[in-house]
Amino acid sequence: MTAQAGGDRAAELAGGLAAARERIAGACAAAGRAPGSVTLIAVTKRFPASDAAALARLGAEDLGESREQEAGPKAEDCARLLSAAGGPSAPPRWHMVGRLQRNKARAAARWAHAVHSVDSLRLAHALARATASALDAGERTAPLEVYLQVSLDGDPARGGVSAADLDELADQVEAAESMRLAGLMAVAPRQEEPDAAFARLAGVRAAFLRRHPQAGGLSAGMSGDLESAIAHGSTCVRVGTAIMGARPIVSP
Ligand SMILES: *Cc1c(COP(=O)(O)O)cnc(C)c1O
Repeated sequence: MTAQAGGDRAAELAGGLAAARERIAGACAAAGRAPGSVTLIAVTKRFPASDAAALARLGAEDLGESREQEAGPKAEDCARLLSAAGGPSAPPRWHMVGRLQRNKARAAARWAHAVHSVDSLRLAHALARATASALDAGERTAPLEVYLQVSLDGDPARGGVSAADLDELADQVEAAESMRLAGLMAVAPRQEEPDAAFARLAGVRAAFLRRHPQAGGLSAGMSGDLESAIAHGSTCVRVGTAIMGARPIVSP
């Protein structure tokens, strides 16, 4: 193992990043949307900090992770690699896209720019306290960006809140000074056409926006379905495999 992604890996990541950006631009054009209206989050879960640093050097500003235990150390290592290498690369913004346990809220508040998976009042409460402490301690300078995860299949095991419970959760997030309600997030169910699922999501979002007009973010779309998500209004796609290649089975 080397501390830096070698030239071959960096070239591979550059190719993956360029291809993902091209797909996003194509989907925006097809939907009649501005090319800058969709943020790309490169999901680096199960890949080493050296890959994250290589992506940041290639201009990726937003990186995503799905496990707190893996992400915290990786964000630190990535920052160290970038500052050791010198040069202009700013540290990336880290997005927690996977499920977050309440007892990891305090740790996540140290590194996460955004949490995309808030789906319960208890988790929102834990994050409000955790981010307030982190702000007080100078461990972060900005409020946490919060996406509420909507369940599109009604299966609580896969995370997400039902559309009926969104408003109460949104009100609680909006009441916390240490957080900013960014919008909604969803994962298309495995057993359904993404187009049908994302069309339903667009309907939920339209109703949500009437009550929370400033929370216009929509985090939807992954390697396999980002075009469909963008056609249905996504402002933020979370792309792993299409940039990084197949995920290693074992965590590095
Ligand atoms: C892993 C993950 C992704 C990226 O998935 P790919 O299919 O590899 O693009 C996106 N969103 C969440 C919540 C994930 O856990």
